[in-house]
Amino acid sequence: TRKFNFCAGPAAIPEAVLQRAQLEMSDWHDRGLSIMEMSHRSPEFVSVAQKAEADFRELMSIGDDYAVLFLQGGASSQFASVPLNLLGEKGTADYVNTGQWSKKAIKEAGRFCDVNVVASSENTSFSTIPAFDSWQLNKEAAYLHYTPNETIGGVEFFWEPQADVPLVADMSSTILSRQIDVNKFGLIYAGAQKNIGPAGLTLVIVRKDLLDRAQASCPAMFSYKTAAENDSMYNTPATYSWYLSGLVFEWLKEQGGVAAMEQVNARKAAKLYDFIDNSGFYANPVERASRSLMNVPFTLADSALDKAFLLGADESGLLNLKGHRSVGGMRASIYNAVPEEAVDALIAYMADFQQRNA
Ligand code: PLP
Repeated sequence: TRKFNFCAGPAAIPEAVLQRAQLEMSDWHDRGLSIMEMSHRSPEFVSVAQKAEADFRELMSIGDDYAVLFLQGGASSQFASVPLNLLGEKGTADYVNTGQWSKKAIKEAGRFCDVNVVASSENTSFSTIPAFDSWQLNKEAAYLHYTPNETIGGVEFFWEPQADVPLVADMSSTILSRQIDVNKFGLIYAGAQKNIGPAGLTLVIVRKDLLDRAQASCPAMFSYKTAAENDSMYNTPATYSWYLSGLVFEWLKEQGGVAAMEQVNARKAAKLYDFIDNSGFYANPVERASRSLMNVPFTLADSALDKAFLLGADESGLLNLKGHRSVGGMRASIYNAVPEEAVDALIAYMADFQQRNA
């Protein structure tokens, strides 16, 4: 009875993970209680937490010179935590503006420092990525922040910016979808509710030498150093989200890890973009080299058909295809937990809808 879920987040979770969580829901490993009801400091939960971190480190090849933090507050909290923790003595940071999430990060950072927008694609309605040689980088910046995948616009970087300052990335909607070299980054953060697990958890990967730069005024709950020193248990963490994310990491390893996911994801995205491009009815506005593997926005030839498209999709078991409220149209989010059959079913529905309505 489960349908195909194309939601941008909270997003699909692998069915096998949900089944296992269901089995363990009220009685975890014969302990007579659920994970949700355990102390976060109990040996049982600590073992779950440590296993999740170890698996995540393995999946992303994260070295010992990085701390991995399991925080709350969503990726949006990181828009403030990043400057609070990384500005150090510097009064300025570099930001790249490639869409709605970049803009939010820029606005929030503006509360704490001078924000230097090194490049922007707003003049193309965020359908491109500004060429790197046009970026106005500042050597005095505390760090360079960018959004490798813009969830709303469907624009993705397939290269990493080169900077002399620590590189900071909001990977909320691309983390674990394809291989990346963590060593190129000073800090990576991601809200969990796309490729990691349920909402309520935010993962931060931070190079340990950056942990000493926090402002004196940085609240303890926002301090990476405090979180690192307390194994992300300075206060009560989001235990159930942490546990469930651990199950997703185990599932990812069973699938062959990130390298295997990358192949499937590339295939899924290529199929969908090919179909859209050749349809003569659907369109995707993003320049080809920067099309997101995870979030595929598309429009219909006539927006008056949008409602009928969504209604029919829903009836066909294809859920949550409505585009973000700020851009309209459609958006198919095809994260790791969205199987290739879901994309095949979507394409079949789109072809049929076109035939009936073009
Ligand atoms: N950054 C990106 C790229 C996102 O896609 C989102 C949410 O969709 C956010 C930040 C905000 O995340 P949260 O709702 O966890 O604060």
